[in-house]
Amino acid sequence: MSLKEELKEIVGEKWVITGEESSLFSVDGFTAYKGDPSMVVLPGNEEEAVKVVRSIVKRGEKVIFRGSGTSLSGGSIPVDGEIVVGLSRLNRIEEYKGNEVIVGPGIANIMVTKNAPPHLFYAPDPASYSVSSIGGNISHDSGGIHVVKYGPTFNSVLGVKVILPDGDVEDLLFHNGQLNPMSIFIGAEGTLGAVIKARLKLFPKPESRVSVFATFDSVTDAGKAVVEIFRKGVVPSALELMDRNIIRAIESSRYKADLPNVSAMLLVELDGSIPQVKEEKEVVKGAIEDNSGRIIDAKGNEDEFWKARKGAFPSMGAISPAYVTLDCTVPRSKLPNALESIEKISREENVFIANVFHAGDGNLHPLIPYDPNNKESLLNALRVGEKISKIAITMGGVPSGEHGIGIEKISIEEMYYSEEEIAVMKRIKQTFDPNNLFNPWKIFRPKSLPRQDDVLKVMWEWE
Ligand SMILES: Cc1cc2nc3c(=O)[nH]c(=O)nc-3n(C[C@H](O)[C@H](O)[C@H](O)COP(=O)(O)OP(=O)(O)OC[C@H]3O[C@@H](n4cnc5c(N)ncnc54)[C@H](O)[C@@H]3O)c2cc1C
Repeated sequence: MSLKEELKEIVGEKWVITGEESSLFSVDGFTAYKGDPSMVVLPGNEEEAVKVVRSIVKRGEKVIFRGSGTSLSGGSIPVDGEIVVGLSRLNRIEEYKGNEVIVGPGIANIMVTKNAPPHLFYAPDPASYSVSSIGGNISHDSGGIHVVKYGPTFNSVLGVKVILPDGDVEDLLFHNGQLNPMSIFIGAEGTLGAVIKARLKLFPKPESRVSVFATFDSVTDAGKAVVEIFRKGVVPSALELMDRNIIRAIESSRYKADLPNVSAMLLVELDGSIPQVKEEKEVVKGAIEDNSGRIIDAKGNEDEFWKARKGAFPSMGAISPAYVTLDCTVPRSKLPNALESIEKISREENVFIANVFHAGDGNLHPLIPYDPNNKESLLNALRVGEKISKIAITMGGVPSGEHGIGIEKISIEEMYYSEEEIAVMKRIKQTFDPNNLFNPWKIFRPKSLPRQDDVLKVMWEWE
């Protein structure tokens, strides 16, 4: 029996997709690259997922796991015809117990809080939270606006159940031993195991949550205010920065919220007890005003401002059909310098760059538009992006703030880590997956290109 026939027997005919329809799985949120899967399989439950993976690995076939396909680093795109196993149908909530919940990997992030007891919430909140899956969030160790106070996904995952590359199932949902391997699967980008269940931590909803919005005549001043807020001992629950270009994109899109037309805008959220939040609000206002910022009154539009921030990436569609999303980081104290460098590069290279980022954790997302019908325009956006990412690293940043390495950041990763460190990571991969069956071509530079491809060549700096 062929593999296709075997998989159809496991999941049912309609959940095995080949041909033209499977090209829906050739792309993700990283629009610069496209690669077709040889087949797509969508198991409907845990048992089917295990059988599917066992059938595939028994034949030595390569496989990519997929949640909602919103990866911004190309994590869920096949590079050389890998089989895609989509886990979005494993979307059940098993049970809420105390401040914990057990869920399937396919559930959308937003549903975890929506279904939680009213006094609890799930903290990690990537702007894609209405669609991106918990399995994808775990595999990219995703962040979001609340990372600054509550940490990335890593800090909210208590246990996972995974299928390993040899087909074995490891239940680490409640593994509390000394050598707990659970955390190795968080941020592993599906290269070590398929997450088929997760135990998540929920936080109590704070007594009070308030927002402060401010405008600045320069992004550098806004960056200085961010540094000052932390210097004064306040840790906001969200601290976001948007520059004039991204505000313009938002205001031209369906996320329009009557944002002011200014060089930079800070959005701050504080949460905690009522007296604590009141006190912190005054400190934040002082830090903003000391750095030439002006506090603005949202006039009841607070939720709209935050929705506009969450819609910043898709709003770019209003000014360009495609764009590259950078994900560099710098230590918070270097934010003003990083912003100056980005402005300089934009001027020197004559490239439009819109900035929106998680200022509180120094995670920058410069967005560089390109023309999808003009290869040179794409390659130039990638080159400019790489230049910015490398400058961020020289300022003390790390290769990825929250979007992962995928196919996008292999050369940036090599700039940051020493050969020894990469060798350690490769040994881990080799131990779990000696035949390189799970999400091959990702995270590590392969020995050879699967085919001549300009985008891969630029990203991987191929000679
Ligand atoms: C508009 C927009 C806004 C975004 N905002 C943010 C943001 O604020 N913060 C942020 O961090 N990210 C953000 N992202 C990026 C993206 O949404 C996240 O990386 C998200 O976690 C991906 O989830 P997904 O379900 O779409 O995963 P996919 O794209 O399907 O997969 C991502 C990676 O995880 C692996 N994977 C998926 N499911 C599993 C599984 N069950 N087991 C093992 N491996 C698996 C895949 O192989 C791939 O490597 C944004 C993306 C978009 C399009």
